Amino acid sequence: MKAHDSMYIGGEWRPAAGADTIAVVNPATEQIIAEVPAGTAEDIDAAVRAARAAFPGWAATPPAERAARLTALRDALAARKDEIAETVTAELGSPLRLSKAVHASVPVTVAGSYAELAASYAFEERIGNSTVLMEPVGVVGAITPWNYPLHQIVAKVAPALAAGCTIVVKPAEDTPLTAQLFAEAVHEAGLPAGVVNVVTGIGAVAGQALAAHEDVDLVSFTGSTAVGRLIGATAGAAVKRVALELGGKSANVILPSADLGRAVKAGVANVMTNSGQTCSAWTRMLVHTDRYDEAVEAAGAAVAAYRAGEPHDELCRVGPVVNAGQRARVRGYIEKGVAEGARLVAGGVQPPHDTGYFVAPTVFADVTPEMSIAQEEIFGPVLSILRYEDEDDALRIANGTVYGLAGAVWAGDRDEAVAFARRMDTGQVDINGGRFNPLAPFGGYKRSGIGRELGPHGLAEYLQTKSLQF
Ligand code: NAD
Repeated sequence: MKAHDSMYIGGEWRPAAGADTIAVVNPATEQIIAEVPAGTAEDIDAAVRAARAAFPGWAATPPAERAARLTALRDALAARKDEIAETVTAELGSPLRLSKAVHASVPVTVAGSYAELAASYAFEERIGNSTVLMEPVGVVGAITPWNYPLHQIVAKVAPALAAGCTIVVKPAEDTPLTAQLFAEAVHEAGLPAGVVNVVTGIGAVAGQALAAHEDVDLVSFTGSTAVGRLIGATAGAAVKRVALELGGKSANVILPSADLGRAVKAGVANVMTNSGQTCSAWTRMLVHTDRYDEAVEAAGAAVAAYRAGEPHDELCRVGPVVNAGQRARVRGYIEKGVAEGARLVAGGVQPPHDTGYFVAPTVFADVTPEMSIAQEEIFGPVLSILRYEDEDDALRIANGTVYGLAGAVWAGDRDEAVAFARRMDTGQVDINGGRFNPLAPFGGYKRSGIGRELGPHGLAEYLQTKSLQF
C-alpha cells in the first residue's frame, strides 16, 4: 500500500515537523501495511496558517466557481474509485463489495450534491427591510473517525468549500491512507493552495491541537461521545462554533401491522453492514410480544447469510472490526449480554477466524431495556431484539437511551409509521425501509450530537449571518 511520508499543507506534500509515525494495520491480516507521519501541534499550526492565508481568496470566489471546483473534486474522487475501495478495504477491513458500493461511491454523490448546492444556495435573502448575507464562518478544523473514512471527510469538506470556508482535516489514526488519497484528489481538482489541508496524527496530540487552535473558527467533529464532550468544552471555553456527530443506539420499531419478514431481514442487514461500525445502525430491534418468537426465528435465519471472511472474497458479507481494541470491546459486550441474562440466538465470543480482528455476527433475544447491550453503543456486529407490549411501551423503549441519532419504523400503513416516527426523539427515521437521501439532514437529538450534516442543512453549519437594514 502506497503511503505518503509527508502532510498535505498549503497545496503541497511537506515533511512532518517530527519523526514519529503511525503504523497502519490491515485488520483482516493483522499485518502492518504502511506508516504515515504522526503530526504534532507544529504541523497543525502550519496547516491552520495555510488555511487562514487561503481564506480571503476562497471566500471571495464566486459560488459558481466554487461549484466548478467541487465538480472537479467529485470527478477526481470518481476517477479513483477502485483505488479508494481497495485502500478502505486494506485499512478498515470492510468487504470489497461494500467498499465499492458505499465507501468509494457515497462520497462522490455527496461531493456532487455540494457542487449543485454551491451554485443554487441562497447566500443572500430579503427579510422585510433587511438583506441577510450568509457568509463563511472562516477556518474549519475537521476531526473524523475511521468507520466511513472517506465519507466522514467529504461530509465536512464539501459543505465547507461550498460555503467559502477553508479547512484542516485530521483523519482517524486507523484510516490515514484513504485520507491521503483524498488529499491527492483535492490537488487534482485544482483547489487553490491552502483551501484544504490534511494532517495525519494521533487524536490526543494532533486532534487536540486542532480543536484548541485559537485561529480555528469552527470545529466539526465526528466520533465518540467521550471525545465529543472534550471538544465541545474546549470550543465552548473559546466561544467558538462547534458541530458534533456522536454515537447512537438506534431503534428499529416493527409495529404489529408490518411485513415482519421484510422488516427483520432489513434490520439484520442494517446492523451487520460494515461489521456494525455505523453510528446510525439499528442496533435495537423492537418487536410486539405477539410476533416476538417469529421475529427472533427470522433474525436467526437471516444472520446465517452474513458470512464473516476475507474481505476480497465475493461471498464475504462481514469483515473484521477495525482493530484489536475494538474487537476486545465488542467481545466484552457479548460477554456482558450473556451475564445480564440475554439469550444468544447466533454468534458469540468465539471468533470465526484465528487471524484478523473478527467477531461472529451475533444476535441476542430476550434483551430488556436496562441491559448494557440495550443502552450502550457497541459498534460491532451485534443485534439486540427487545419485546414490547403496546405502542406506548415501544415508544418508551425507543426513546429510553441517552442517544437519538437515527431509527426505523415499519407498519402496514405508511401514515401509521409516520405517526410513530413523529414521537421518536431522534434525528432521522427510515419509514418502511426508506432510501438514502444525500440531501436529507443527518445528526443527533440528545447526546448524539449538535448540528447536522448533508444537504442544505449541512451547508448552513458553515455559514454565519449578517443583516443589513435599509
Ligand atoms: P474517537 O472519538 O476515538 O475518534 C474520532 C476522532 O477523534 C479521531 O480522528 C481521533 O484521532 C480524534 N480524537 C481522539 N481523541 C481526541 C482528543 N482528545 N482531541 C481531539 N481529537 C481526538 O472515535 P472512534 O473510535 O474513532 O469512532 C467511533 C465513534 O464514532 C463511535 O462512538 C461512533 O458512534 C462515532 N461515530 C459517529 C458518527 C456520527 O455521524 N454521529 C459517525 C461515525 C462514528
